[in-house]
Amino acid sequence: LESLRDELCETSDGFHLPLWVNTGLMADVARSLDQGAEGVGLYRTEVPFLLRERFPSEEEQRQIYRSQLEAFSPKPVTMRTLDVGGDKSLPYFPIEEENPFLGWRGIRVTLDHPEILLVQTRAMIKASEGLDNLRIMLPMISNVSELDEAVEFISRAYREVLDEGSDVKMPPIGVMVEVPAAVYQASELAKRADFLSVGSNDLTQYLLAVDRNNARVADLYHAFHPAVLQALKQVVDAGHAEGKQVSICGELAGDPAAAPLLLAMGFDALSMNATNLTKIKKAMRAMSQAEAQSLLAEVMELHSSAAIHEHLEQFMLERGLKGFIHAPLD
Ligand code: PEP
Ligand code: MG
Repeated sequence: LESLRDELCETSDGFHLPLWVNTGLMADVARSLDQGAEGVGLYRTEVPFLLRERFPSEEEQRQIYRSQLEAFSPKPVTMRTLDVGGDKSLPYFPIEEENPFLGWRGIRVTLDHPEILLVQTRAMIKASEGLDNLRIMLPMISNVSELDEAVEFISRAYREVLDEGSDVKMPPIGVMVEVPAAVYQASELAKRADFLSVGSNDLTQYLLAVDRNNARVADLYHAFHPAVLQALKQVVDAGHAEGKQVSICGELAGDPAAAPLLLAMGFDALSMNATNLTKIKKAMRAMSQAEAQSLLAEVMELHSSAAIHEHLEQFMLERGLKGFIHAPLD
């Protein structure tokens, strides 16, 4: 795997699929760059917020974001606006709810507190001055008005930064597709946004009604569930029909067994933890686009996660990728 660090991610027939990384800490940056990441598909901005005792100021945020943007420049860095709530709560901004995953989280919090969104996006935009490699991404979008409203705030942040004398470009704005409603509205969202990125961790949890952190139902959390795969395919098709780029940044993107399916569905980039980059490159080298496409066609005909898992296992075994597939499902 080491030898693949500086190689591009290519199929055996030479198709290049960009691999991006998910970051949060500065420590992730060095690790990502020396594994050949081609950009950041998800920078979880809540991480620096979690490491503090109060909300970081605009200038503190600007400096943190600047380091990420600079480290990867000229490669793209996709910064997600604050995604708190659910399982992530800030000690200085506690959110207590009976049902937090269906509650006040992600974009819902920041639209109710536009000052947080404005300060954060102003800091991001200022940080991108002279680099222009920033992309902004919105978490937990479940309807088009949330997107419209967020775009309005970001445009206002942009105008303010320009008025204050910065010379920056308006960053592309993307939507995370991680709520089933966003799958069904992927076309409408894609019309209004610059890109889509699937958050398969939450999307799996919400499609299957399985809490991603509850050990008792962990055996029902199947990212290879036929419903999840149908949803992924639908999002790619909808995004592409509007001429927009579609990437994926959940854990599934870093799973070598998912690689042929995501490739065949047409995802434009896969974003994962740095540790998985070389594994995905290795898996991708072992297959051609045509092989991945026939595998996807076969898998889409199967009706259970177990059958899909078995089929993927066979595909991986035939390509000498035995250690790359998780244990079979119960
Ligand atoms: C996801 O939901 O897939 C995702 C990438 O976001 P997070 O894991 O931070 O919720
Ligand atoms: Mg998520």
